[in-house]
Amino acid sequence: MSALNLFRKEFGAEPAGLWAAPGRVNLIGEHTDYNEGFVLPFALPQRTIAAVGPAPAGEWTVCSTFEGEGISFGATEPGEVTGWAAYVAGIVWALRDAGFDVPGARIALDSEVPVGSGLSSSAALESSVLTALIDLGGLELPLERRPALAQRAENVYVGAPTGILDQSASIRCRAGRALFLDCRSYEIKQIPFDLAAEGLAILVINSNAPHQHVDGEYGARRKSCEEAARILGVPALRDVPLAGLADALDRLDDEVMRRRVRHIVTEDQRVLDTVALLEGGRVREIGPLLTASHASMRDDFEITVPQIDVAVEAALEAGAYGARMTGGGFGGCVLALIDADRAPAVTEAVENAYGNRGFTAPTCWIAVASEGAARL
Ligand code: ADP
Ligand code: MG
Repeated sequence: MSALNLFRKEFGAEPAGLWAAPGRVNLIGEHTDYNEGFVLPFALPQRTIAAVGPAPAGEWTVCSTFEGEGISFGATEPGEVTGWAAYVAGIVWALRDAGFDVPGARIALDSEVPVGSGLSSSAALESSVLTALIDLGGLELPLERRPALAQRAENVYVGAPTGILDQSASIRCRAGRALFLDCRSYEIKQIPFDLAAEGLAILVINSNAPHQHVDGEYGARRKSCEEAARILGVPALRDVPLAGLADALDRLDDEVMRRRVRHIVTEDQRVLDTVALLEGGRVREIGPLLTASHASMRDDFEITVPQIDVAVEAALEAGAYGARMTGGGFGGCVLALIDADRAPAVTEAVENAYGNRGFTAPTCWIAVASEGAARL
């Protein structure tokens, strides 16, 4: 059922409007966001749609095609609304906490973004609701401040310690562009990313691997990076330049921590190199950077799983220019840069590799860089 029809069914009325916000894939720059470095996501065509209408002041009701029961709440503090509706209550809370007079609202949600696959259905949900409430209430919140507010909802209200990548992508990406984001200054640059014009495509391979240990491992990586920055006497690992990497590694005793640092420092450089190639129109040449990013996540950051590594290997063997896991890790999706007409062959190669190993079949599709959050 569509968000519009769910709204009509639940509330017996027409909504004031429909708002959409996309999921994302990160082209390159993994785990660099909370190290105040660089990321390069683009928005997916798959979106979360919020049908939203007014309600009395201080009252919010939310329902979703994903969930049976609608949930109502008033002005709450973190922890008071739990489960999936916490993402919505968190947005209301973060807006109120920033001093905004948030309008009461009735919200019906539907999403095309696969949930829990590392494509950021959570940020799509937050961003669609945030954009709707801002428009509905006529709130003065400039675009550049919105991702941090949505991130705060997820960090503080939901309790998930994510960086700012996902919300920035869902809110600030543009069609035909990749979003180069400096996660310290929040400065952005829209980078040309029209692959079809080059006869190229990004194939997304959802590994469909069960997500395991995601939160704990994410927290452990984050802690290790923060600890390394402290030992090295820098505000964040972003402040270790590639030219200073050998020196920095010499100053760290812990072998695991050294590998974590090497991933972040080299990954930041790979994002910069990717941006330079894309701006120079040398799109195919980003392939080796994508593959190097994957090796770094596999060997140094240790966040891949066998299904993910097999998908990357199979895509490369089938002729991809480059391939890497995208997203936080321990499952989720792989992206591969391919000649557009090779999509069926690469898909088949990955499916065969999965079949040979007895893995659950993957799901593959072409991702086209799409528009960020907007009213429909
Ligand atoms: P990801 O963002 O990678 O998809 P997360 O674990 O961060 O995975 O977020 C998934 C959670 O977001 C779901 O478990 C659910 O609580 C919530 N969610 C996402 N989309 C919807 C939706 N359309 N309706 C209800 N809840 C949703
Ligand atoms: Mg998420």
